[in-house]
Amino acid sequence: MAQPNGDHNAAAKPPPTPSPLRFSKFFQSNMRILVTGGAGFIGSHLVDKLMENEKNVIVADNYFTGSKDNLKKWIGHPRFELIRHDVTEPLLVEVDQIYHLACPASPIFYKYNPVKTIKTNVIGTLNMLGLAKRVGARILLTSTSEVYGDPLIHPQEESYWGNVNPIGVRSCYDEGKRVAETLMFDYHRQHGIEIRIARIFNTYGPRMNIDDGRVVSNFIAQALRINQWLDYTPLS
Ligand code: NAD
Ligand code: UDP
Repeated sequence: MAQPNGDHNAAAKPPPTPSPLRFSKFFQSNMRILVTGGAGFIGSHLVDKLMENEKNVIVADNYFTGSKDNLKKWIGHPRFELIRHDVTEPLLVEVDQIYHLACPASPIFYKYNPVKTIKTNVIGTLNMLGLAKRVGARILLTSTSEVYGDPLIHPQEESYWGNVNPIGVRSCYDEGKRVAETLMFDYHRQHGIEIRIARIFNTYGPRMNIDDGRVVSNFIAQALRINQWLDYTPLS
């Protein structure tokens, strides 16, 4: 996980010293956490973990690729709130931490409306950083291995800057996430916001759409289809 240290941090303002109350049992057990994109595949698993750890969780999601179904076990729970919200619009809530996941992750969906994808990455991240600045919250961005583009070195180290096509059909996502990362570091350096960036590689698991279009689900779906086909094909 990229953290603001080493060379990246040369001109950084230190984050404001948190109040000692922040480490108190009361604060820790009443922490309010915003999860953008919490109705999606990864976000809903994160929400499960946070709820199981007895946090107060607010999900903001526009349901473009996510679904309330993924969160149905928490709807109505006193520590859980669900807001239909598009992160390209400002959001006024009072929270202590932000997990900023909102963004379609599958190429099928992020290429469907590329301008919207880049707005989600750039304006959406700007809004969440503005929110983090106003309330003094720590913010994590889910970035992607796609920031390395078509990498020229393998495996990729965090220090590698990538090899990205700025004008291709995937650029709305790849370059969008790169700008989002830049914004995270600029808000950290300029305003002392506490930040984390996780560059996630291909992930799969329960609640992923079978037609998601990414490599692992494609292999599994194709294997299942071949199996079905073999089952129904007469032997001679
Ligand atoms: P997903 O599509 O299942 O979830 C994304 C969620 O964001 C959905 O609930 C969607 O409705 C919501 N969303 C999209 N645009 C929004 C907007 N403008 N405002 C509010 N909500 C919006 O994807 P996922 O696989 O859960 O990915 C979550 C995050 O992880 C994304 O930021 C993605 O880029 C990143 N990531 C995922 C993978 C992976 O393999 N799944 C790999 C790298 C990075
Ligand atoms: N913002 C938000 N919620 C907040 C505070 C700010 O959505 O609680 C948005 C705000 O509307 C702006 C963005 O975050 O578009 C960046 O805010 P910042 O204060 O950093 O910049 P400024 O508003 O001065 O341009």
